[in-house]
Order: sequence, then structure tokens, then C-alpha cells
Amino acid sequence: MGYIGGMSTPCGTLVEIRDAIRSGAMSSVDAVRGCLERIEALDGTVCAFTQVFAEKAIADAGAIDARIAAEGAERVGALAGVPVALKDNICLDWGKTTCCSRILEEYESPYTATAAQRLIDAGAVIVGKTNLDEFAMGSSTEHSCFGPSRNPWDTERAPGGSSGGSAAAVAAGMVPLALGSDTGGSIRQPAALCGIVGVKPTYGRISRWGLVAFASSLDQIGPMTRTVEDAGLALDVLCGEDPLDSTSARVEVPAFTDRLRDPIEGLRIGVPAQARSEQNDPDVARVFEETVERLRTMGAEIVDIDLPHMGAGIAAYYIVAPAEASSNLARFDGIRYGRRAEIDQGEDLETLYSRSRAEGFGGEVRRRIMLGTYVLSSGYYDAYYNTALKARRLIKGDFDAVFSADASGAGVHAVLLPSTPTPAFRIGEKIDDPLALYLEDIYTVTANLAGIPGVSVPAGFAEVEGKRLPVGVQLLCPAFGEVNMLRIAAGLADSSALETMPAG
Ligand code: GLN
Repeated sequence: MGYIGGMSTPCGTLVEIRDAIRSGAMSSVDAVRGCLERIEALDGTVCAFTQVFAEKAIADAGAIDARIAAEGAERVGALAGVPVALKDNICLDWGKTTCCSRILEEYESPYTATAAQRLIDAGAVIVGKTNLDEFAMGSSTEHSCFGPSRNPWDTERAPGGSSGGSAAAVAAGMVPLALGSDTGGSIRQPAALCGIVGVKPTYGRISRWGLVAFASSLDQIGPMTRTVEDAGLALDVLCGEDPLDSTSARVEVPAFTDRLRDPIEGLRIGVPAQARSEQNDPDVARVFEETVERLRTMGAEIVDIDLPHMGAGIAAYYIVAPAEASSNLARFDGIRYGRRAEIDQGEDLETLYSRSRAEGFGGEVRRRIMLGTYVLSSGYYDAYYNTALKARRLIKGDFDAVFSADASGAGVHAVLLPSTPTPAFRIGEKIDDPLALYLEDIYTVTANLAGIPGVSVPAGFAEVEGKRLPVGVQLLCPAFGEVNMLRIAAGLADSSALETMPAG
């Protein structure tokens, strides 16, 4: 396709770069330089990165090249020499971990997140940190203290969020893999709007140690890549129990890339009535129906199902997530963590706390803290928080029911949903309407509430004002069912044969 070394994108996919390095066709330094050049050329416009570790990345790549020469790439690791990026709410013991918040603008983490360490131990080279909505609260990256990232398909539009920097970086061919975090859709929604693959693994699959907590019962780290195979390769490295995270699961980690080519014939895929909302953009609705037909052509059995409590998802999520956030963010008070405000002689500690927090947090984060403390306060706890937990149980029950075999023995293997109700929206379009932004998450929050895995795959395009904008679809599977999930996703990606590189 005219890119260096026969790669399919400017920087290559994860698998392409890994193979080129393994075969000796490319050095890690070359791969890292390729990414840095692309970042240099485009990031002034796309604003995907909050920090680029150019010198360190080249030095790290040089060290990896030396190890590859001495030991062979396979011994160095599954990602020997491959450049990657991290969302800037994932700690590294170098650079800054800002969460794109004024309050952490200068924060230097003393330790490295387990997920990042696993990438490093597999030989990957971290080239930089990517932009997000402050503390991962948002769906557009417009809530970042550094300003929004831009969608590479149309730079007037948002890349989605909160992992919008990671999505934009991968979509623009700046890195083959970026980690995101997904509390209510923050990997899958930006992946859909940027035309890439985004996986939210089962709760507990990947350690959360070193991920700055937003809502601890919902947060998961996951890979954002151009291909399903790349996502599988990243999961191979990232998944597994971690003694530092007591919620990480002690379950066997399968080889996620092993069964990607298995035909999906005979698999039952549930299409919920709720997927066909009148509110969906017409192009989203069309791509969804085309996807159903493609799955049928591939031999899957399409089963009409009902997820009767899905409609309560947004309300439940926007109670549970802020409640947990209000507690998690209590530590940012200018004393324990975060930028300290100036106070005058004679002013008290309370003033120092409240001024530090008022100056340090942006409007959306303050809104969430207020919502969260309100729903947890005495007198309201039962009415809001407890009710939301009940709704959460019902939502999980809906999925348990469709996945488990019924009297006729036929539970579904996966559920198909749109990833988002609309294609990418304009920067500024929804910023003054928090509810409109919250509704972006209508198809994604239920997976987090139920703890199950989800993947967004590119499935087609919308034509909006003369621009082609990517549209994604989402597959959800039972807990720890990622192997089947990726197998169906890979089948879909192959059958659509989309050109997933934005022009220019
Ligand atoms: N958009 C959702 C929110 O604003 C999800 C965020 C996330 O997954 N981190 O809370």
C-alpha cells in the first residue's frame, strides 16, 4: 500500500512490526523513529499525546536492539522492540501521570502500573502518554485540561473519549497499540468513532494496579489497536492475576490469538430488541443491519433476544460511577496528593483543601463529585445508590439469562449491539449538555455494570457532510469469554475488508 517495509499503515500494525523486528528487516530504533516522525508530523493537529518520551524511547529501543542481537527477539519477549503508548491515567515511574487534570499536572508516580510493566517486560517501548477526559470522565476528550484531541477522520470532530488520545494515536498511525481504560465505554466508544478495535476485557482480567481509580468496581484497562489479531497479542501480554490487585482474577489466561481463524459457523449471536432504537443515527442503524446479515452469511445463527433492563443502564451507571469516584477522588486534597493552593496566614486547613480542589478539578469532575456525594448521603442512599445497585443486579441478570442455556438448550454465545448511537460528533457540539454526552454511553455501560467483556470493531462508514466517518459494532460475551469474542470480531473484521486508514 506504499508504506515503508510493505506495512499496511504508516507505522505498521503490532504484528507487522513484531514480525519485521523478528526477521531482522527492521530494528526497534527504526520502528520507534517511524512512530516519532509520524507523531511529529501530525500531533500538532491531532493532539493525541500529552507527553512524548522521544529521547528515552530511542535509548530504550537501542537497548532492546542490543538484547535482540545477543539473545534473539523471541527470548526478549512477545513485543520485542515494538513502540506503544499509554493513556495518561496509567502510572509510569518516569515522566508525569497527569490524568489530564490541573490537580495532577506535575504528579510524578513513584511506581509503574502492572499493565505497563507487563508491556515493558515483553520488550515493548513506551513512546508517550495520551490525552483523556480529566480522570477519564467524559466521552470526547473535551474535558482534558490540555484541550481536546481531534478525530483523524475529520479534525473538526471529537475522537470520542475518555481514551480519545489513545484512539486518535492508533487511528492516525502514530502507534500500533495504545492502552486505554474503560469504566463505562471509554475504550469501545472512541475506538468506534476512530475506526479501530478496542477491547474492554472481563473485570479482573487485567490488573488495575497503577491505573488511577475512577470507579473501582467498573474500571478495566484494555488494548486499542488496528486489528483484532493485534488486540489478541496485546491481551496475551497484559492479562493475568496480580498480587498487587486483589480484584484481578485467578483464572487461566488462554492464548487469545489461537482461535482467531476458527469459523464462526454455528455460533449463536443474540440481537437485542434494544439495539434497534429509534434514536440511532440512520447510518449506525444501517451498518448494524449489514453486520447482522454478514454474521448470518458467515454461518452464525442470529437469535432475537431481550435485555429488558438495558434502559436503566445509564441511570444506574451515572449513580454508581460518580459515587465511587467521589470516594476515590477524596485523596486529591493538596496534602496527600495534588497541587496545593496558596492560602493566607490565618486561613485554616479546610480552606486549603477546598481551595486546592476547587482550583485543581475541572467542571465535569466537580459535577461527578457532587453527584456522587449526594447519592451516598444519608437520606438519599437508599433512594439512589441502593436502587442503582439493584438495577445493576438486574442488568447482570439479563446477560446471565441470555448467555445461559434455556430449556431448549440454546443460550447465545455473544450479544451484538451498536457501539455508539451516532458517528463522531463535532467538538463543542455536546459540551454544554452533559446529558447528551452521557447518552453516548447507552450501549457501552451495561458491560461494565455486568463485569463482562466487550469489543468494538469497525463495521462500516457513515457519510456526514461529505466526510466518511467510521461506525463500529460491539460484541459482548460471558465473563472470561474473550477467546470467542475475538474470534467473532476477527471474522467480522475480515468479512468487512474495510480500509481503516483515514486519508492524509
Ligand atoms: N463516558 C463515560 C463517563 O463519562 C465513561 C467513561 C469511562 O469509561 N472512563 O463516565
